[in-house]
Amino acid sequence: MMTNDSPNSWDARAAAHSFYGFTDLPTVAERGTIVVTHGEGPYIVDTEGRRYLDANSGLWNMVAGFDHPGMIAAAQAQYARFPGYHAFFGRMSDQTVMLSEKLAEVSPFDNAKVFYTNSGSEANDSMVKMLWFLWASEGQPQRRKILTRVNAYHGVTAVSASMTGKPYNAVFGLPLDGFVHLSCPHYWRFGQEGESEAQFTQRMADELEATIAREGADTIAGFFAEPVMGAGGVIPPSEGYFQAIAPILRRHGIPLISDEVITGFGRTGNTWGCETYDFVPDAIISSKNLTAGFFPMGAVILGEALADRMQRAAEKIEEFPHGFTASGHPVGCAIALKAIDVVMNEGLADNVRRLTPRFEAGMARLAQHPHIGEWRGKGFMGALEAVADKATKTPFAGHLSVSERIANACTDQGLICRPLGQSIVLCPPFILTEAQMDEMFTKLETALDKVFAEVA
Ligand code: PMP
Repeated sequence: MMTNDSPNSWDARAAAHSFYGFTDLPTVAERGTIVVTHGEGPYIVDTEGRRYLDANSGLWNMVAGFDHPGMIAAAQAQYARFPGYHAFFGRMSDQTVMLSEKLAEVSPFDNAKVFYTNSGSEANDSMVKMLWFLWASEGQPQRRKILTRVNAYHGVTAVSASMTGKPYNAVFGLPLDGFVHLSCPHYWRFGQEGESEAQFTQRMADELEATIAREGADTIAGFFAEPVMGAGGVIPPSEGYFQAIAPILRRHGIPLISDEVITGFGRTGNTWGCETYDFVPDAIISSKNLTAGFFPMGAVILGEALADRMQRAAEKIEEFPHGFTASGHPVGCAIALKAIDVVMNEGLADNVRRLTPRFEAGMARLAQHPHIGEWRGKGFMGALEAVADKATKTPFAGHLSVSERIANACTDQGLICRPLGQSIVLCPPFILTEAQMDEMFTKLETALDKVFAEVA
């Protein structure tokens, strides 16, 4: 029940009855909550009528913008035709069949098979259960450990949070046992004095080899990696990283799973991040861009070899005992089919490729700032890392909250960008125009100048 003194501003109403996740509560207490009513292209509009260019595509996912008429029409048409169904007991919607065919077609695999979830976390979680199921079925039930990397982000369920290589999960008593985190392949930050990038990559590969020897290959179920780490701070791998680690994993029979929740469907300039970084995984995890953010959905896309093994394992006990009520939801599948068409055939992926040089030039220009240590990224995802001292790469003191202040100074000008650690992340919708990209960089530059003048 709401009480008599219930607040009446949107901000206060939000705070009164919503429990916030991944939100800095002191900042919200000071600055309030932006309550969004609708969007226009890459802009969101709040209850006060203020417009913000969302340079993060919502949460990396609204790649076609916030009001794409074709996407809305596809959703409406499917709601009118068949608004909900499941994929259990030998039944599934026609849209589910068609989306699986489409994903098999656009995946880098021959004869892929697809399993659906509601989110990226659940897709990673499901993939881990698939690997546990598979190895147990093949007589190796002890193969349960999961290898990931420090700074990786794979989600928030108990399993996918255990895969995530971020210290904040300690508040939940995570990671669970058996989740092993290797080093983050970020050469600029973690390369040692006098170490070349090739030597750094070799060190990452040597560490993997040593970890497998220490843990025992016959205890490891799989290795998960984002082609470009996203929520860890937009970290592309060091040169040759996947070429160095993939053969080691293959030699030990450890499946390599590419978590393409952010990098899938054009974000890095190709359909898949694994194409951009020239490696072939055993399976792909997809979400976010899969539906252009118009429906919560995730997918596990199994390559042929893994799909065949999973099929045999399931046939042995006559079913794979796993699935979600909304797995393969017909509206989600219809939306995903439309999103793939929009991104691949309406010029959105082309726009990313066409404007990537402009994006890189804008980032490189801002990186000349005395307090930007590095810009990094690929395609339409990038980060600028703030440093107190450029020569020594020394970060600003944490209490200065530099990246949060930069993001707030952007918000004040009508630009949404995301602070991640000491970095500012840009991940704009694929529909961005030249003028909107210039608006993004101009406002960000103003924010950098303002905040660095205050703290430096
Ligand atoms: N994997 C990656 C690479 C992600 O970026 C995310 C979300 N940011 C997830 C998994 C989890 O997806 P979700 O939030 O849909 O559970």
